[in-house]
Amino acid sequence: MEQNTLRIAESVLKIQSQLPPDVILVAAAKTRTLAEVEAVVEAGVKHIGYNYLQEALPIIDVIGERATWHMIGHLQTNKAKYVAAFFDMCQTIDSWHLAKYLNHRCEMVDRILPVLIEINSGEESNKTGVLPEKVDELSEKISRLSHLKLQGLMTMGPRFGEPEKSRPYFQLTRQAFERLKAKALPGVEMKYLSMGMSNSYRIAIEEGANIVRIGTKLFGEREA
Ligand SMILES: *Cc1c(COP(=O)(O)O)cnc(C)c1O
Repeated sequence: MEQNTLRIAESVLKIQSQLPPDVILVAAAKTRTLAEVEAVVEAGVKHIGYNYLQEALPIIDVIGERATWHMIGHLQTNKAKYVAAFFDMCQTIDSWHLAKYLNHRCEMVDRILPVLIEINSGEESNKTGVLPEKVDELSEKISRLSHLKLQGLMTMGPRFGEPEKSRPYFQLTRQAFERLKAKALPGVEMKYLSMGMSNSYRIAIEEGANIVRIGTKLFGEREA
């Protein structure tokens, strides 16, 4: 356990030293124990990402405000109330239905939640997210919601294989990001581009990412 904590602390330092200062590191914590998540927080990671509510809530309960909590997995509307209450950002808005419902839940707890729209840049390699040609319309609609604050885009891209293969997906997402930024929609602040994982974060940063979501390279391989 001690050893694991040390190894995680070393990984955090190594990754942090490779990231430009304006790039935010989100530790993708799915399947990790409380001790492992504590270890990245102790090592200086400020942002933790979760895919599943049931896994996140007990950890958030313990670590609380020592970290900032990001929803990075597909969100079902019936779970939106937990994100409204306990998370600091939802990176995976992928429908008007979800946006509307999450807005409603945020209103009920009197919070304004920063959100990113997830882009389905791979089309085949991932099934979640909004197609790039649909993102303008969704952004305009979200911009009129009182309790969501649209701050950028997120994409997965292919998870395995040659990192270089991710580049076109990142470029496509970056183009949508720049296009939306140029529109300067009222209430929208296009400032975050969340792309890149353990195998692809260097390429993502080259293509403009300023949030990277890293699991394996921080915590080690996940058990199958
Ligand atoms: C698991 C996951 C990551 C991190 O993946 P690694 O390959 O372990 O770095 C990033 N983003 C999302 C949405 C994930 O589910």
